[in-house]
Amino acid sequence: MIQRDRLLALFLELIRIDSLSKREGRIAQRLASELEGLGAKVTFDDAAAKVGGEVGNLIAHVPGTSKAPPLLLCAHMDTVSPGEGVKPVIEDDVVRSDGTTVLGGDDKSGVAIVCECVRVCRERGVPHPPIDVVFTICEEIGLQGAKYLDIGKLRAKRGLVFDSDAVGLAFTRAPGANHLEIVVHGRAAHAGMAPEKGISAIRIAAEAIAAMRLGRIDAETTANFGRIVGGRATNIIPDEVRISGEARSHDAGKLAAQTEHMKACFVEAAARHPGARVEFAVDAAYEAMSVPDDSAIMRLVSAAAEKLGRTITSAAMGGGCDANVLNRRGLEVVNLGTGMREIHTTSEWLRVSDMVAAAEVTLAVIELAAAL
Ligand SMILES: [Zn+2]
Repeated sequence: MIQRDRLLALFLELIRIDSLSKREGRIAQRLASELEGLGAKVTFDDAAAKVGGEVGNLIAHVPGTSKAPPLLLCAHMDTVSPGEGVKPVIEDDVVRSDGTTVLGGDDKSGVAIVCECVRVCRERGVPHPPIDVVFTICEEIGLQGAKYLDIGKLRAKRGLVFDSDAVGLAFTRAPGANHLEIVVHGRAAHAGMAPEKGISAIRIAAEAIAAMRLGRIDAETTANFGRIVGGRATNIIPDEVRISGEARSHDAGKLAAQTEHMKACFVEAAARHPGARVEFAVDAAYEAMSVPDDSAIMRLVSAAAEKLGRTITSAAMGGGCDANVLNRRGLEVVNLGTGMREIHTTSEWLRVSDMVAAAEVTLAVIELAAAL
């Protein structure tokens, strides 16, 4: 019932519409008319003002043919850079970018799958529960759309997010993450005339980082510093260094402990250099999610896969997505693979048959959800 060529055509149209984060206005209008054409009531929430973007999150209510509990289908509209002027190259079953931009399969494959499934439901009279379609903004810049999503506009309490690669996997677990911004303050002095008057912020940062556990901490926890900037000139003792990093863990306690350890290393290093000072700012980027295999939504996904003679296994992802935020905000959602590959690179590609397979599973989930 899923029509491959129609799904591909919509996908190709969507990836040709530029939609960097905060600039989702044009694609949002296109999707609003798509969904309104399918009988959905489309609104936008007020997240645009909160993120300083063109448009808020798109929320569409598709009326159901059954009185079953509503189902959420969610994907994000924004893409990463370089993502403007995408020129897709099609080779048999594979769509890739021309190598100058990302493809935008992250996450327009998810958006296209949702639209195709709603279209099949409406056109073919497939029994379906009320469906809440949510297309978020600004996922790629800190899940901001999901964080500001007007949850009060949703009828659904459970559903699917489409924002990962492997078809055949449902991501039910994801780590929480802290973003860390550290400023080490030393004291400037002439490096040749009066080095003893200076306090080297670079040295303090080096001591702190050398003493620190980083990389893979344990099976659930990782930590990294990804950026360091500081100093003024070779003849000046550096008075300031700025360091950006992160810690992630599937376990909230371990995340807190690792973050505390990183802070302690800076504080201790600064303490060895009287006059030095450290600022350590923690931003809770997103919290961990963990949806049980016997949850209602995973039972639906497993049953849908079985109905199609496939298997979908639950898995843990290494990063965060809208699903982290939505689970934390009281919904029950898992993240289904759409076939997107090598995302966030100019080598991004996607197999159309994977996208079709994900849509077929989704349609089966919708049908089963109608009978609940
Ligand atoms: Zn994504």
